[in-house]
Amino acid sequence: MTQTAAAVPWGRLLPEARQEAVGIVDAACVRLWLGEVAARLEAERDFLTQLDAAIGDADHGVNMHRGFTAVMTKIAGIEPATPGQLLKTTGRTFVSTVGGAAGPLYGTAFLQAGEVLGDHERFGPRLLLDALRASLEGVQRIGAASVGDKTMVDALTPALGAYELELRMGGSLETAASGAREAAAEGMRGTIPLQARKGRASYLGPRSVGHQDPGATSTALMFAALEHAVIADRSQRFAGGARRPVSGS
Ligand SMILES: [Mg+2]
Repeated sequence: MTQTAAAVPWGRLLPEARQEAVGIVDAACVRLWLGEVAARLEAERDFLTQLDAAIGDADHGVNMHRGFTAVMTKIAGIEPATPGQLLKTTGRTFVSTVGGAAGPLYGTAFLQAGEVLGDHERFGPRLLLDALRASLEGVQRIGAASVGDKTMVDALTPALGAYELELRMGGSLETAASGAREAAAEGMRGTIPLQARKGRASYLGPRSVGHQDPGATSTALMFAALEHAVIADRSQRFAGGARRPVSGS
């Protein structure tokens, strides 16, 4: 997927400087995203736990929900904060409150993304691509999982590929986030026929086949929340009369 994206030139994009100058994602949008993730994790907690019960130790929903509840409390206490600070706080909170594999893996993903965003008050879709890429690299460094191992990487990798491809084709943040959501969900469903090669599910061998991976499912949930947040954020800005250009960015 990444290879496909790399084969498409950035031809139809605005000049990079202009594009990033649009800087359409700010701390409020990141808070919107994190809040949406928290709400969805609460709604899907039992489902995630059921998935983990089939091939793991039945704690993924509970762990993710506990982690994000702690994240929401923590970030409410840091205002103002830059997008990078919000994501780094999310990562650190995750590492300290979530056990199992999910804590270090998601914690690293958020920390790495936060590092890439640095001190920027706002950022555009290209920097978000770099942040997502750093997240995937962090996850693979910690978990040593590749595509096809039946892990969160099976949702994250195609999401990143679709996001990049959409940007290269001249898409906007919204269409890129939409493509990422779709690809993540497809990757998530694609874990069902796979035999797990990493994590606790791998102990089951062939018996892990036929079950959807919980980590890929929570990752797909985060991309669905991202799409929701960027679209809701744009609607709010238009409704508020702040008509900054967003198309083609
Ligand atoms: Mg588990």
